[in-house]
Amino acid sequence: MERIALLGCTGSIGTQVLNVVRRHGDKYKINALVCNSNVAALVKIANEFKPCYCGVANSSGVKFIKDAFKGVFSLDFTKDALKIAATLNEVDTVIVSSSGLSALQAVTEAIRLKKKVLLATKEILVSAGKLITNLAKDNGVNLIPIDSEHSAIFQCLAAGKREQLKCIILTASGGPFLNLDIKDFQNITLEQTLNHPKWNMGKKITVDSATMMNKGLEVIEAKWLFGLNLNQISCVIHPQSIIHSMVEFNDSSVICQMSYPNMEIPIQFALSCPDRFTTNVASLDFEKIKSLEFYKIDENKFPCFNLAQDAAKQDLGLVLNAANEVAVEEYLYSKIGFSDIARTVEYSLNKFHNIKIENFDDVFYFDDLIKKDTYGHINKRY
Ligand code: MG
Repeated sequence: MERIALLGCTGSIGTQVLNVVRRHGDKYKINALVCNSNVAALVKIANEFKPCYCGVANSSGVKFIKDAFKGVFSLDFTKDALKIAATLNEVDTVIVSSSGLSALQAVTEAIRLKKKVLLATKEILVSAGKLITNLAKDNGVNLIPIDSEHSAIFQCLAAGKREQLKCIILTASGGPFLNLDIKDFQNITLEQTLNHPKWNMGKKITVDSATMMNKGLEVIEAKWLFGLNLNQISCVIHPQSIIHSMVEFNDSSVICQMSYPNMEIPIQFALSCPDRFTTNVASLDFEKIKSLEFYKIDENKFPCFNLAQDAAKQDLGLVLNAANEVAVEEYLYSKIGFSDIARTVEYSLNKFHNIKIENFDDVFYFDDLIKKDTYGHINKRY
């Protein structure tokens, strides 16, 4: 029985992890659950899965929440909850789906303890990819991707020898504005942004998909995860979201992974690999699908994708991510418009183009500094 700590158990990925565990309860046991602040949902999940540890990482409003749940369930209210859960003796595997960099320390501690780490949170690799992947290598730990594109690459790589890999191709659905005329981008509403055509996800990643920042972040995520050069990674729009990504070997053979879009496949494979177990996902019906299309990303419509490419070249993933997290949050509060997300990220990349990240303390220091500066910039400018 594989014993799991689930960090970020009430979000979109966390909920789907629980579905996988429900389906294969003979193989997996949830031993630790941590949420950010949705205590009501956590208590419900905890009553079902009976873990040995339950934590709430965001301590704001703790007194009120504590009182409300007194005696209902044993909950630990501390910002260290993610780290505590990830380092428990009763945990073999840590699934990371908490937002942003909140679980960075939990991940480093889990790696040092040589636990299996499954990563859904790309922000950690985008901001601290070099440090994390070096630490994993030093400890002989494989970081296993849950992000659907990276899971696809991970699966396709098994078809050949690593030294014979030529390049990888990440697919992108194109999001809700793929076919919108560029002159209409200034009138985009929040409601339109949050209405993704193919994937039902959390709000932050849904906005990132609409700006195509998500694909830019995924390029950086792939670079670190698979130890690639940037010139080995390309992206193509594939609106049907049937091919989840591809790898090309040196004989020009391209291997792809396909399925209807459903996160339970990459989540379950991250847990089960190299084994495969049944899912509830239907088999592809090619006669119904009929055609698979591919398009170039329009860089004029999606400047965030360009900014991410530039940041990747300059090793400024941390700046890109910090500024984008703030811009998306302010966009969700309707403080800035859709096109201001790219403008804000561009401002921060210009301002902090000189930073050097040497260790994990630098990651936290600069993440905080850049976020504060970006909030200040938005308050002044908008
Ligand atoms: Mg993805």
